[in-house]
Amino acid sequence: MTGPRVAIGSILTECNQFGGSPIDLDWFERYELRWGDEMLAIDAGVVGGALQELRGAGARVTPLLAASTCPGGCITADCYQRLRGELLERLRLALPVHGVLLLLHGAAVAAGVDDPEGDILQAVRQLVGADVPVVATLDLHAHVTQAMVENAHGLVAWATYPHRDTQTTGQRGAHLLLETMAGRCRPTMALAKVPVIVGGLHGSTDGDGAFARIMRAARQQELRDGVLSASVFLVHTFLDQPDLGGGGLFITDGDALRARDLAEATAGAYWDSRHELEATAVAPGDAIRAGMAIDGGPVILVETADCAGGGASGDSIASLRALLQLETPPASLVPVVDPAVANACHRAGVGAGLHVAMGHAMDPQWGTPLVVDIRVESVHDGRFRYAGGIWDGVVGEMGPTAVVAMGAVLVLVTSHATYDWADEQWQAVGIDPRRAKFVVAKNPMNFHNVYDEVAKAVFILDTPGPTPATIAQHPLRHMQRPYFPADDDIPDLKPTVWTNAGLYA
Ligand SMILES: [Zn+2]
Repeated sequence: MTGPRVAIGSILTECNQFGGSPIDLDWFERYELRWGDEMLAIDAGVVGGALQELRGAGARVTPLLAASTCPGGCITADCYQRLRGELLERLRLALPVHGVLLLLHGAAVAAGVDDPEGDILQAVRQLVGADVPVVATLDLHAHVTQAMVENAHGLVAWATYPHRDTQTTGQRGAHLLLETMAGRCRPTMALAKVPVIVGGLHGSTDGDGAFARIMRAARQQELRDGVLSASVFLVHTFLDQPDLGGGGLFITDGDALRARDLAEATAGAYWDSRHELEATAVAPGDAIRAGMAIDGGPVILVETADCAGGGASGDSIASLRALLQLETPPASLVPVVDPAVANACHRAGVGAGLHVAMGHAMDPQWGTPLVVDIRVESVHDGRFRYAGGIWDGVVGEMGPTAVVAMGAVLVLVTSHATYDWADEQWQAVGIDPRRAKFVVAKNPMNFHNVYDEVAKAVFILDTPGPTPATIAQHPLRHMQRPYFPADDDIPDLKPTVWTNAGLYA
């Protein structure tokens, strides 16, 4: 074999600095944690796509590790040092290599390390030197930092939200790396961002919303000569760090000025769309009253502030409490993470009646438990398989799980928070959520994957939690003013611009 030697590694999760539970190695073990050669069996998602592209080109692949998990609070120091240390040590042992491909997220935070992806890219760069191409893929919710831009030949982000293109993004990243290693291009990258911090609710790349339009305009540039890659970032909202914001990142073949112009134009369009991107929410009681006035169901109550996919603990009972305030609540479905209640249900068995305190056990700052009588309808091992998205094909683990009834309201009580893609968690316990009157969905975007065709109405709820619809009422300490939504207008705003020109100096 004479193909180029490529080292490939992945550490992928998203972190929440408003709340959530710390991410440790158990979290990665529940989703995906593969060391060295174990990584080669991955055939889907961003790692699968990258491996296919590299193998197709005849590259000799050196797998480092693949670690990914559901978003949470910050990664613990021990966990981060273990993953970082393994990745770097395995790379050091593999040297010399012709290129390095890293499949990252871009909005992780570890205890004591604000920018793990920048930290890893910098450390990898130090190991391999300035001349060895290093390419990384990111989520479009990445908080792209100067350290990431300056240490990578290329950064390539997924271009869809809901995230359906992780596999092709892996391919795009691998392709850019292969072309660079072969000397067929000289990736010249510029990022431009503006201080707009808005939630995911209006960030869909489907349809004709502001973010979809900006994404389409940017990606069209990829069809033009000399533009190697276009990415648009809708920064992860629930960080508190300097230089947060959204914008564009372009890679041209050696044309620094053009990369910068395109990135600045995208950042400008992003700024102009800020009001359209900012979401509003309604009180749960108002949403439920309006939903009761609608014939049939399902009516979707989006409890976006408790989104495990954004790092929340999934343990809020705010929507549940509001539903139970109805005199006779209709058939409704609510997911709540509460390991103690789930385990109590397993011990008591199907049919048992229990008096429990449910909710706000993991991240208690957002509410008080609901003290309530429940009946155990069914118990489950909590395993399911994702049918799309970032973890397509991967087994998710809710841990010991129970479906409990409070009259016609059914609660899916799980031991672990899991990322919501479609309705895999409900299907795993034998429930079709389309048949309920009210369904509580704890994700600002992915409920579209299930309910767009069938929902009678959708209400975005204003409830306490670390992933709210807007951060307007949540002052940031480390992000410098001015920024939107804290500041509605910023006279003479110039985007922040970073480039990888230093690699060619
Ligand atoms: Zn994302």
